[in-house]
Amino acid sequence: MTPAGLVIRPEVAGESLVRAALAAMPAVQARVTEAEARAVFPGLAPWRILVLDRFKGELVKPLAPAECSLAGRPEAFLACGVNCPGRCRYCFLKTCATVPYPVFYANVADMAAELDAALAAAPDLYVHLGHILDPLAYPFLAPLVGAFAAVLERHAGAMMELRTKFTAIDLLPAPPPANLRVAFSLAPAPMARRYEPGTPGVKARLRALALLARRGYRLGVRLDPVLLPDGWEADYAALCADIRAALRAAEDADIVLGTLRGPPALIGAIRADDPGEALRRGEFIRTRDGKLGYPRPLRLRALRFLTERLGTRFPIRTCGE
Ligand code: SF4
Repeated sequence: MTPAGLVIRPEVAGESLVRAALAAMPAVQARVTEAEARAVFPGLAPWRILVLDRFKGELVKPLAPAECSLAGRPEAFLACGVNCPGRCRYCFLKTCATVPYPVFYANVADMAAELDAALAAAPDLYVHLGHILDPLAYPFLAPLVGAFAAVLERHAGAMMELRTKFTAIDLLPAPPPANLRVAFSLAPAPMARRYEPGTPGVKARLRALALLARRGYRLGVRLDPVLLPDGWEADYAALCADIRAALRAAEDADIVLGTLRGPPALIGAIRADDPGEALRRGEFIRTRDGKLGYPRPLRLRALRFLTERLGTRFPIRTCGE
């Protein structure tokens, strides 16, 4: 994805990631300025703007307990930016991001040093790259991903999960690092068309998954959020069959399932956009941590349905339950 407008903060104008961005996107309108990004490009929708800013500390943040899925292992996410050019209607960033446009930090060496220190202090940490952004969304992010992967290689007990809906897999370090897992976020194609505008189609994601399996990467499949509008069973049965086919050549993969849930503000925003479909005409109830979600019997039925169809070749975990 190439943004239409690139805002470069003066403090990072000399960083190599900024040079990589300008080289990879020669046609982008770029401005070096401190001005508010929407004032720089007033005619552009926020998701068509990208800001490259300076990281000022606090890269490694603990994942909320309700979002963790690895029993007994600490999980954290990397805040090396926020937002992405996708416009998923269920994206929780809608209600908590402090800016409406995508931002990536460009002083990569400072972030790599902070990650190194965090892993020295917590050697079995599982870090998520892709919790509040998409690390494959833009064509110049290889130095960022590569720097983090290089840090992980010095900490054999740690693991980094790169989670994406985008398909620029040639940005990934090669050969596959031992403690990098590349996880694709998937949904049935008709639901992705409706709820995930601005992201690559599901067929393209499945093709990327199959290609990485053949290249020997450790992989992940994330069905989170699972959406349950009327008739969800047929769409998810087809998706499960496609996932099994895409993982045929994989030697190491895992699968995480989580049904749609969120704070009332997010569920309210989805409902305003989509009355009566994924939210099943207001059947949502309060679940853990003050969130709203599907009623428990429906959640359990959906998780069982998916588990049965995804097979036993790879471990399946749930989150949000
Ligand atoms: S791809 Fe991820 S980060 Fe981007 S809008 Fe969708 S859910 Fe949010």
